[in-house]
Amino acid sequence: MDRLNWDGTPASTDAETAQASNPYLLPYTDEVKAATDHLYERVKHVVTPMEWPQKAALIHAINTLKAEKNAVILAHNYMTADIFHCVGDLMGDSLALARMAAESDADVIVQAGVHFMAETAKVLAPEKTVLIPDMEAGCSLASSITGEDVRRIKAAYPGVPVVTYVNTSADVKAECDMCCTSSNAVQVVESLNSDTVILLPDQYLAKNVAAQTDVKILTWAGSCEVHEQFTTEDVQDLRDAHPGVVIITHPESPLEVVQAADFAGSTAAMADWARNSGAKKAVLLTECSMSDNVAVEVPEIEFIRPCNLCPHMKKITLENIYDALRFDQHEVHVDADVIEGARASVQAMLDLPKPAAPASFDPACQEKPVDIVTV
Ligand code: SF4
Repeated sequence: MDRLNWDGTPASTDAETAQASNPYLLPYTDEVKAATDHLYERVKHVVTPMEWPQKAALIHAINTLKAEKNAVILAHNYMTADIFHCVGDLMGDSLALARMAAESDADVIVQAGVHFMAETAKVLAPEKTVLIPDMEAGCSLASSITGEDVRRIKAAYPGVPVVTYVNTSADVKAECDMCCTSSNAVQVVESLNSDTVILLPDQYLAKNVAAQTDVKILTWAGSCEVHEQFTTEDVQDLRDAHPGVVIITHPESPLEVVQAADFAGSTAAMADWARNSGAKKAVLLTECSMSDNVAVEVPEIEFIRPCNLCPHMKKITLENIYDALRFDQHEVHVDADVIEGARASVQAMLDLPKPAAPASFDPACQEKPVDIVTV
């Protein structure tokens, strides 16, 4: 018999009461189970059977909303595996996501990544609605420099080409000659046919690029708070603890870490390496979710997982993606004149010949002097 309230109206069920206090606690119905069972196969290495029903219901609700709104989710490699493998439509590093955003015929783009990535999507697809689930999802590199800083640098170094790493605001991109990513930074710098290039804002990427080219590099004192923390001691400790392990690092880490590793490259290069290496045991010295996501595609590699969490990337959750789609929040706006300048900078990069594979950084490189500009 149904329970009744004091006035004779039907009382809420326990499930309804729980959902009212937690709007993300959606029912795990037969329909949800049928629609999501195949997705569990992709994430069962990181999601327990007990956690899955609640996640599955939310994943199903998100995927239903996407279809209703003709929306796509751009999922960066550093998203947790439930986002990356269960609701992401287009997955990859910042360059791949930017390219795919421009080519997508969706009306709405939800950026499961950080704010500069959402801005880049808006720059390349200004007619689309771009949403970011949490406006606070920033980046230590992007916040290290402003468009005004770049204007001052250009005034202090007239005639020297300025390249910006993609991890910057649209305002910064609009002031620069060309954009680059860690997949193509050396190619971009060398394409400018200049003895000297200013490469902003990551001092570690700049030092790693300088070690791979004869172009003189000047840079800015920005850094990625995740990758700058790795040390050569970490590399040695891992080799001692796991004999035979292959160590892969990112060019946002210090040069000496790249020199101590077996391979270095962008997240795209790391994933490419994992697919083709034939290695048995590896460490991806990068953000924590990268190994979880690559492991789904390459289960034959045992990934040892020391890592650093990016607090900005981890602001994006299934819950706030659900809210972004339900409430059309938070829309990313970029001024039309900034879009024009930033698009020219990104497009100059996209117009370069596309390499057959993402470039890697040779660990056997030699350090070269890199000056940090101050203005
Ligand atoms: S991992 Fe580093 S570069 Fe990437 S968003 Fe986080 S702070 Fe920025």
